[in-house]
Amino acid sequence: MSAIAQYSFDPTPGSRASAAGGAGGTWEERWHPLREEWVIIAAHRNERPWTGDTVSRQAAEPLPHYVADCYLCPGNARVHGDRNPQYDGIFVFDNDLPCVAADAPVALPPPTGVFRNRAARGRARVVCYSPLHSTTLAELSVDQIRALLECWQEQYRELGALPEVNHVLIFENKGKVVGVSNPHPHGQIYATNFVFKTIAVEVDAAARYWRDHRRVLFEDIVAGEKADGRRIIAENDSAISFVPYFARYAYETYVAPKQSHPSIAELSASELTDLAGVLKDILVRYDNLWQLSFPYVLVLHQAPTDGTTAEGFHFHIEFHPPLRSPNLLKYLAGPEIGGGSFLSDTSPEQKAAELRTQPTAHYKLAAEAPAP
Ligand SMILES: [Zn+2]
Ligand SMILES: [Zn+2]
Repeated sequence: MSAIAQYSFDPTPGSRASAAGGAGGTWEERWHPLREEWVIIAAHRNERPWTGDTVSRQAAEPLPHYVADCYLCPGNARVHGDRNPQYDGIFVFDNDLPCVAADAPVALPPPTGVFRNRAARGRARVVCYSPLHSTTLAELSVDQIRALLECWQEQYRELGALPEVNHVLIFENKGKVVGVSNPHPHGQIYATNFVFKTIAVEVDAAARYWRDHRRVLFEDIVAGEKADGRRIIAENDSAISFVPYFARYAYETYVAPKQSHPSIAELSASELTDLAGVLKDILVRYDNLWQLSFPYVLVLHQAPTDGTTAEGFHFHIEFHPPLRSPNLLKYLAGPEIGGGSFLSDTSPEQKAAELRTQPTAHYKLAAEAPAP
């Protein structure tokens, strides 16, 4: 099976139009009246082949810089025939098989009774971090990470300005255990016509706290972390990273500017530099933890672009790593999936202590560096 065929947003052969309209090709949003949230049904993507392996010991064999059948590598053809340019920095393109799109079907079969649906409008994009197939975000320089932050700023501004886009979700799924088998370093953007549930809950919490206290909730969380100190991983003039007091995943961390901004777009040049530094720091600590390329879900939590004010909202980045130890996954089960609340078997203070003791030079580089 080719690398393309295993890829997480890999399209199936055939045109999008036929996939969207045909039997079994349902593509729409459905309202969940009990959870009060939208569910994207993108069944036109459902034949993505997946080898379904679990956490396995991967041989640490070095990857080549270029792979001929990787459709993220420079110069290669993608599934619908578009060819990537010979890019040498960051490369953004529209996802070839999007879950939301400007041309999502609008003539939807009306549901019966209490059910509601609507067109899955928006934009889905892919952001390649580097032309090198062999690298990862953790191995990029602070300058390269800063360039990515600038790219995210531009994407948030551009996509957020579209009339049909009410929220811009920027994220990276990294590692086979979170469903990505193509290691080419990249993230994704879902610019949707609805606000994702977690963001909506955070927006409400921040607005209520602002109304009640005239204070920014996230700033008080940072103040609480600083007062305790045990869970802070790194800090510079304007940015900070920490394992939150209320962490749900073992190695969950937040990375944020200290000053409140509704989105990454409002960060100044120096804030961007500081944020890149703290981001690089935590990525390296993660990899150093077990000397493996650390899997995670990285997500930017940003204010909606729906014209509301989102008072008291504070932009931040969250890492949700699925591993508890090198071969042990945190499974979402009864409490999490069944009940919707997390049960954590680890102490945030202990996990923060593990991260705090990690060296800040990447283990791969440290292995090559001459002794001081
Ligand atoms: Zn590649
Ligand atoms: Zn958040």
